[in-house]
Amino acid sequence: MVIGFLVSYKSNLLSLSMRILENHSLQAYNTFGIDYKADFFAVVKSVSELRKLLAEPEFLRLPKLFLGGGSNILLCGDYKGLVVHIDLKGIADLGNGLIKVQAGENWHEFVLWSLNHGYNGIENLSLIPGNTGAAPMQNIGAYGVELKEVFVELEAFHIASEEIHVFDRESCHFGYRESVFKNIHKGAYIILSVTLQLRNDGLVNTTYGVITEVLNQRGIDKPAPKEVSEAVISIRQSKLPDPKEIGNSGSFFKNPVILRATFEEIKKQYADVPSYPVNGREVKVPAAWLIEKAGWKGKRIENYGVHEKQALVLVNYGGAKGEDIYKLAQDIQSSVKVRFGIHLQMEVNVIVS
Ligand SMILES: Cc1cc2nc3c(=O)[nH]c(=O)nc-3n(C[C@H](O)[C@H](O)[C@H](O)COP(=O)(O)OP(=O)(O)OC[C@H]3O[C@@H](n4cnc5c(N)ncnc54)[C@H](O)[C@@H]3O)c2cc1C
Repeated sequence: MVIGFLVSYKSNLLSLSMRILENHSLQAYNTFGIDYKADFFAVVKSVSELRKLLAEPEFLRLPKLFLGGGSNILLCGDYKGLVVHIDLKGIADLGNGLIKVQAGENWHEFVLWSLNHGYNGIENLSLIPGNTGAAPMQNIGAYGVELKEVFVELEAFHIASEEIHVFDRESCHFGYRESVFKNIHKGAYIILSVTLQLRNDGLVNTTYGVITEVLNQRGIDKPAPKEVSEAVISIRQSKLPDPKEIGNSGSFFKNPVILRATFEEIKKQYADVPSYPVNGREVKVPAAWLIEKAGWKGKRIENYGVHEKQALVLVNYGGAKGEDIYKLAQDIQSSVKVRFGIHLQMEVNVIVS
């Protein structure tokens, strides 16, 4: 449910001052590093540029893809339409920890900005790749914290009406790697800015065991938010492949939430199956464990495969095709389904135009 309309405006400015690139490589715009091309490509730095671009008659009927850092997509071919890199910049401190961040701000740099300005609340989300505009798309989360915990509202451009709508936390329907922008409003909005409520009480969340382990190794028993951020950064660097070295989009699948009764059946056969309680009826099972047990961890097929240390991460060793990685993901889904009766949902946005 949309909670407010900020602007109602129809553009009649059809002359474009920004550069539109034709047949442009998207390799630098996806962390899988896959070299497909977009028929048309533009970078927008303001809402007025965005309005002008979308009103351009040449583009009205074309499919459109809006991108931040490209760290949660799998391109499956050349994009037969217009790709728009959202590059709106700016961080505004509205007082009392209320911070409005424009969509094109790099998420991790914003986390560092918040720490350097004495704020806490998002230190556990350090080093998540991508831009702030995409953060609400899947309610980014890591190490016991999710975006929704600090989220206040966002402004989004409604493509059909050309209005800017404001969504509060409730209207985003955040879930585990979910929001309305990934389902009922998929493709309908461009997120322009995100407003978060940060704190300056120095309180940190170290409930995720591995953070405490690293802090203990460092002799820190009362960690400051910056120290938690540094611990998270070192854990992530030791566990996850760096997309600059091996193309990937982080976790390819979500951890499935299954009925406790189903889990008990699996446990009869696999006594070591890990789980995390969700509620009285359901538990979450690590997708990485299921994929590993199904025999996929470290499997390499020519120039792509499943990462050797992290079964949840599919990788491009160089020159892979998106369709091949997608087929691998589907094969993994099928074999986990056959072995455990569990459907693995893809977390990465698969782009087919
Ligand atoms: C190594 C690695 C580790 C990761 N770890 C985590 C993690 O711990 N937790 C986590 O939650 N995620 C993680 N991710 C996934 C990813 O970083 C996040 O989902 C991030 O928020 C994506 O941001 P982006 O700007 O790169 O989005 P993109 O990949 O550019 O876009 C993702 C989706 O959002 C849409 N989109 C992007 N910007 C906008 C906008 N302004 N308006 C409307 N739609 C938009 C795109 O069309 C696409 O469908 C990881 C990825 C990698 C590569």
